[in-house]
Amino acid sequence: MKLRTKINLFTAVLFIILLILINVASFFTFRHMMFQNEVERTHAEAVHALNGISKSIDTIQAQTLLTTYMPINGMLRVVHPDGEVGPRAYVPEQKVLKDFPTTYQKSERKQVVNYDGRPYAFTSLPIIWKNGEVAELQMVEDLSQTAANLKTLSLVLLAVTIIATIPVIVSTRVLSNVITKPITAMIQTMREIRKSGQYKRIRLTNESNDELHEMGQTFNEMMDLLEVNYEKQEIFVSNASHELKTPLTVIDSYSSLLKRRGQTDPKLFQEAVDAIQSEAIHMRELTQQLLLMAKHDEQWKLQMENIPLLQLVDESVTSFREGYKRDISIIVEEESIVKTDKQKLKQVFYILMDNALKYSEKPVIVVIGKERNQSSIKIIDQGIGIPSQDVGKVFDRFYRVDKARARKTGGYGLGLSLAKDLADAIGAKLVLESVEGEGTTANILLSNEDSH
Ligand code: ADP
Repeated sequence: MKLRTKINLFTAVLFIILLILINVASFFTFRHMMFQNEVERTHAEAVHALNGISKSIDTIQAQTLLTTYMPINGMLRVVHPDGEVGPRAYVPEQKVLKDFPTTYQKSERKQVVNYDGRPYAFTSLPIIWKNGEVAELQMVEDLSQTAANLKTLSLVLLAVTIIATIPVIVSTRVLSNVITKPITAMIQTMREIRKSGQYKRIRLTNESNDELHEMGQTFNEMMDLLEVNYEKQEIFVSNASHELKTPLTVIDSYSSLLKRRGQTDPKLFQEAVDAIQSEAIHMRELTQQLLLMAKHDEQWKLQMENIPLLQLVDESVTSFREGYKRDISIIVEEESIVKTDKQKLKQVFYILMDNALKYSEKPVIVVIGKERNQSSIKIIDQGIGIPSQDVGKVFDRFYRVDKARARKTGGYGLGLSLAKDLADAIGAKLVLESVEGEGTTANILLSNEDSH
C-alpha cells in the first residue's frame, strides 16, 4: 500500500467513521430523550385527567368527562377488566385510534408504541369506575411531530457529516501531498542518479524547518559528500596511475634496450639494471604509501598509551642519525607524557624528519616543549623552505613544490598528506611554517595525557 493511501486511510477514513459514530450516538440518545419526555408529559396529563374524572364521575356523564380531559392530538378511553372498551374520546384527526389495540393489565404503564406506522405515547392508569370495578384509563398521544423533528435532526446531522467530510478529505490530500512530495522527489532523484551515474540534488523549495525538509537537506549533503569523495578518489587514482606511469616507462625503455644491446654492451647493461632497480624501489615505496593511505578508509586501529615524548623522539632520532649520517640535535624545553598511539606518532615524526633531511643540508633541530597547553614536537630545518603560496597545498595528495627536484629526492607528494591523515587519527595537529630559502619548522601538537 502506498504511503499516500495509508495517510488517506488512517486520517480521512478514521475521522469520517468517528464522525458518523458520534452523530449516530447523539441522534439515538436525543431520540430516546425526546420520546421519553413525551411519554412523561402524556403520563402527567393522564394523571391530571384521572384526578378530574375520579372527582366528578358520580355527577357528570363519563363521555363528557373524557371529552373534557381528551389530549389535543390523541385519545382518552376507559378499558374494562374484561377487555371491553368503555367510553372514549378522540380528536377527529386521530380517527385511526378508534381501533387502537386493547390490553388490560391492571397496572400502571407508560411507553412508546408504534401503531399505523406512527409512534404514539401510551399511558395506562388504574381507575375506580362507577360500579366499583378497577378499570383502566388509557391515554394515547400522537408523536408524529416529534418524529418529524427527529427526522429533520437526522438530516441536519447527515448534512453536517457530509460537509465536515469535505475539508477532512481536502486536508488529508494536502497533508499526504506535503509528506509524499519530497519523498517522491527523492526517489525520482535517486532513480536519476542510478540511471545517469551523476550526483544530483533535490530541489528544496519550502523553507520550513520540518523533518522532511531536513531529510532533503541531509540527502543533498550526503550527495555533496559522495561527490567530493568520488572526485577525490578519481583524482587519487589518476594521480597514482600517472605516478606509476613514469617508472614503468623507464623500466619498459631500459628493458627493451637491454633486449637489443644488453648482451653486447656491458656498460649499458649496468646502467639499465641500475635504473630498473631504482625505479622498482621507487614503485615499491609508492605502492606502500598508497596502501597505507587506502587503509585510512577502513578506520585506523588505535592503540593508545601514555608515552614520554623524549623517549620516542630519542629512539627515532638515533636511527635517523645512523641512517642519514646527519647532525640532528634534540632540545627539551619541557618534557611531557602524552596519551597517543606510539606507532602512528612515530610514523608522523618519520615523515616530517625525512622531509627536513631531504630538503636541507644543515643540521636539523628537534624541540620538545609545550605550546598553548599542548605538547609539541618541532622539527626545525634550515633548508630550501617552501614558497608561501605552496605552504597550504603541501598537505594535498601528490602535491610537490618542485616536481623535477622532488623526483631526484625520491618523493611522490604523499608524505605530508599521509602524515596529516595519521595526525587526524590520533587527534594531533600539524602546523607547517616555512620561509623560502631559510628553512621549515614542522610542529606536531598533541593533546595532553588523558585528553585523547
Ligand atoms: P614528498 O614525498 O615529495 O616529500 P610530501 O608530501 O612529504 O611529499 O611533501 C610535499 C612537498 O612539500 C614536497 O615535495 C616538498 O616540495 C615540500 N616540503 C615538504 N617538507 C619540506 C621541507 N621540510 N622543506 C622544504 N620543502 C618541503
